Amino acid sequence: MTNILVTGGAGYIGSHACKALKAAGYTPVTYDNLSTGWADAVKFGPFEQGELSDRDRLDQVFAAYQPAAVLHFAALSQVGEAMRIPEVYWHNNVLGSLTLMQAAVHAGCLKFVFSSTCATYGDQDNVVLDEDCDQHPINAYGASKRAIEDILRDFQRAYGLNNVIFRYFNVAGADPEAEVGEFHQPETHLIPLMLDAIDGKRDALTIFGTDWDTPDGTCIRDYVHVCDLVDAHILGLKWLEDEKDSRAFNLGTGTGFSVREVIDHSGAVTNRDVPILEGPRRPGDCTKLVSGSTRAETELGWMPKRSTMDQMIADAWRWHQTGHYEK
Ligand code: UDP
Repeated sequence: MTNILVTGGAGYIGSHACKALKAAGYTPVTYDNLSTGWADAVKFGPFEQGELSDRDRLDQVFAAYQPAAVLHFAALSQVGEAMRIPEVYWHNNVLGSLTLMQAAVHAGCLKFVFSSTCATYGDQDNVVLDEDCDQHPINAYGASKRAIEDILRDFQRAYGLNNVIFRYFNVAGADPEAEVGEFHQPETHLIPLMLDAIDGKRDALTIFGTDWDTPDGTCIRDYVHVCDLVDAHILGLKWLEDEKDSRAFNLGTGTGFSVREVIDHSGAVTNRDVPILEGPRRPGDCTKLVSGSTRAETELGWMPKRSTMDQMIADAWRWHQTGHYEK
């Protein structure tokens, strides 16, 4: 079977990707430092613990498994943290990814799928967020991801490192079989925090700002189901196997939900009250991030199947009630 190196395979999205890879006939080899991931989440292939910045360790893993491609998920990804300690984002995300790309080129592994983000676009009023629009990130998370995109373009030209860049909008939901799911410590994301508030694991969900320039005053995001998102990665892999040109794709549904709308859906799906508090804006947040592109559908043949808000909340709720990981 074909080995695929999955950095961050012990994390939320990476673990779902490993499940999808295995189902598609690949062997996912997880490379993860467990800083935010969980050994328990590595269920679908071998696990190699290591740092992205550890070139010797990476060389060893490339030599041992001879992967046909890299799926690079490992990254720090919290906007609030990126505003407080930007240097950690530049160091971990950019230097770590650079080292990984160098190791991949050295090993002759020239297919690379990269997890980028809509945060690279920044806060742009009245701009359709398609793949060709300018990228003006407003926090170090988005900036670090844009820098990696730039390095990938250079490595493509210099070394033939063929790549697919996926710019994720907001990833939500969980494996419907609840083998893997979203579990961060500490948790910072809207839907899992809300589910915690709904079942009393925390007192309330704080809405970060009710004075944004949106119809109900709360931020708007485009949510995509993690299973649909990882399906796109399998298609991205096939894109590279077919030797098509390096390409960037947005992964979102094109439909925006405000924080208040997500709260309303969560109450309806779980049939419970959502205790909320209204708090100040979170520094680094954008007003509205909604994909304005159907490139993934038209060119990759991607078809989101579970990305309705109610389905995402229902799947997240099932996992929330049954699944968790232990260190
Ligand atoms: N949000 C919120 N309260 C929270 C966590 C998030 O109001 O406790 C808001 C946040 O300001 C943003 C949206 O929910 O508008 C999604 O935030 P999340 O951290 O889940 O993802 P991000 O958009 O930062 O990738």
